[in-house]
Amino acid sequence: MAIDPHDFLAVDDQLDADARAVRDTVRSYAAAELEPHVSDWYSAGGLPVEVAKELGKLGVFGMHLTGYGCAGLSATAYGVACRELEAVDSGLRSFVSAHGSLAMSAIHHWGSEEQRATWLPGMATGELIGCFGLTEAEAGSDPGSMRTTAVRHGDTWVINGSKMWITNGTFADVAIIWARATDPGDPDDGRIRGFLVPTDTPGFSATKIERKLSLRASVTAELWLDDVQLPASAALPGARGLSGPLTCLNEARFGILWGAVGAARACYLEALRHCDERSQFGRKLASFQLVQAKLAQMVVAVNSAALNAAHLGRLKDAGMIDPAQISFGKLANVRAAAEVARLARSLLGGAGITLDHTVMRHMNNLETVMTYEGTEEMHLLSIARSVTGISAFR
Ligand code: FAD
Repeated sequence: MAIDPHDFLAVDDQLDADARAVRDTVRSYAAAELEPHVSDWYSAGGLPVEVAKELGKLGVFGMHLTGYGCAGLSATAYGVACRELEAVDSGLRSFVSAHGSLAMSAIHHWGSEEQRATWLPGMATGELIGCFGLTEAEAGSDPGSMRTTAVRHGDTWVINGSKMWITNGTFADVAIIWARATDPGDPDDGRIRGFLVPTDTPGFSATKIERKLSLRASVTAELWLDDVQLPASAALPGARGLSGPLTCLNEARFGILWGAVGAARACYLEALRHCDERSQFGRKLASFQLVQAKLAQMVVAVNSAALNAAHLGRLKDAGMIDPAQISFGKLANVRAAAEVARLARSLLGGAGITLDHTVMRHMNNLETVMTYEGTEEMHLLSIARSVTGISAFR
């Protein structure tokens, strides 16, 4: 039986029909509509907002959520969509993660019925775009030290502070803002709460972060909240404390552990093609033992990551996944992808450093993917806490 170079261990044979249909749809859409333009978007430093809206038509926004216009597919099917998008560029998958897994999940998990009905249908189609503001300039890995405040005055919340590194921040219609809430009448006074902030609210502004060397096809912003006044109904009623945002981050990390497989696969396939086409010393690069060793190393890394993703997908779909297992997947798969991208770049020689090829774009992107949604170190600490029972975060 011939081995599929896209899928050496035939992992996709274990997917159900829905997930395979998602794979085929997203892969062919990506090949036709995204791949031809992505190096220009990367070069220009952002994704046109129209592309975001087109992705909504594809049905990938909140596709694993149920009701409110969302597709209600499995976590695995959502993971497969992330994999196929990130095979094009991590910035595209980031757009979908920040909008669907972070902003939409926050509303779906923690919102009131009215908030869900108001926001989710438009977000599912891409007519409304969301962002998720947790990180601050002085509170990254330690979001519990955030300084943004929400103070309740009668029926009004007043929010002050700023958020840093926020994906989709300049073109979002709604921002989920996490803030330390002061509400003297509430038993949870002083805890972190989430707020739905329409971005046209007076006092809200967003500035694009320029000069990024990584994830350039995704827009990243700093958000400013200066006496932003919101009705009492703007608070997400279900979220109290850090478990609110962390639940959403786990959803997004799950997408990342799948997405990394796509980035790794794209780098490996480009290197394989190049080594077959290019000759030096009168022979194809693919015929040299040292080159073959690198290709084989890539095959092992890409497909081990694919197995991880498929297994964790099954656990998640069975409702049996632990956040430390998601940490395992994110850490292992992003490391694997970064290793594959570096090997692939070396095999492309000088050509590998240009935007005419994908490998260095992926390699640069993966530096961000390793940092956001929990750095490598945070995931190491999470895995180790789970096996030792000792938290070494502080
Ligand atoms: P720091 O927390 O300052 O970490 C710096 C280094 O110190 C890291 O190596 C870290 O692992 C290490 N370190 C910190 N504490 C410890 C410790 N206890 N033990 C050992 N090592 C430690 N955030 C959002 O809220 N929403 C978004 O949409 C979003 N999008 C992003 C998009 C991009 C392109 C980027 C780059 C970031 C984005 N982020 C977003 C923020 C991201 O989640 C943070 O960058 C990340 O959590 C790390 O925080 P930091 O950058 O402040 O680094």
